[in-house]
Amino acid sequence: MAAISSHLINKASAALERAGVDSPRLSARMIMGFVLGCSQEKVLTYPDLALENNQVSMFESLVRRRAEGEPLAYITGSKEFYGYDFLVDKSVLIPRPETELIVELAVEHFKSSPDQYFADIGTGCGAIAVSLALEIRGSLGLACDISLPSLLLARRNALIQGVQDRVFFFRSDLGMGIRPGTLDFVVSNPPYLSIQDMARTSLEVSAYEPFHALVSPDNGLQHIKRLQSVAWLMLKDQGMIFLEMGNDQSHEVEKTFSKWKKVRIHKDLAGYDRALSAVKS
Ligand code: GLN
Repeated sequence: MAAISSHLINKASAALERAGVDSPRLSARMIMGFVLGCSQEKVLTYPDLALENNQVSMFESLVRRRAEGEPLAYITGSKEFYGYDFLVDKSVLIPRPETELIVELAVEHFKSSPDQYFADIGTGCGAIAVSLALEIRGSLGLACDISLPSLLLARRNALIQGVQDRVFFFRSDLGMGIRPGTLDFVVSNPPYLSIQDMARTSLEVSAYEPFHALVSPDNGLQHIKRLQSVAWLMLKDQGMIFLEMGNDQSHEVEKTFSKWKKVRIHKDLAGYDRALSAVKS
């Protein structure tokens, strides 16, 4: 007898709930959609989809991975960000909804002035750079990362979204090598957790996501401090920076940017201080 999707989903949801996974039913449904190659909506609308034996074993083994704590995005290999789908793998941080804030701020500022030249420092899967290229008509972006596997993945994302001619990927430590005085704006979601923050973070993050994309020395602030000087050098006069940071870092980060103009701290949807914008002048 063929296995029926809703029965498998019920069983998997119960197992995921026992394992303490967030949103167990949603996870089970998304894994089902991935295994059947269809949307979650279809899984929801048609409870009687039939699975072959090999699909059943694939479903069960992916559910086991989720029960052990592996993030769903690594299991399905994709994550939505700013309304676009991005490939992700273990070489990159999974794009977070709160990171949409720095894209939103940059888009708000530059949407009506096309032909902007920007850099995304520490691009990971490329979500920020690719979204900006899609949202700001005619913009050109440089996207760098210190990790080669992440750059290869980011380039695939640019190709999938059709912006490969407007986003250029290169390997660099925090944008070293970009010509001084050339950029209209810089965006970055750098590593900003301290070692202590990392010890408190969930196992899903600490055991699966890349340490070097999360943790920064100097109480989580070293990369932000270095970015301040690198960005100052690379930007044109009146150029802007949009930077993500930890919710308890706004005071220190504002101090770091004391020579900049129009320094603003922006809150994420959860009401936490999450981003800084500032103008070089
Ligand atoms: N907001 C992320 C987290 O807490 C950290 C992202 C980062 O360090 N850039 O998991």
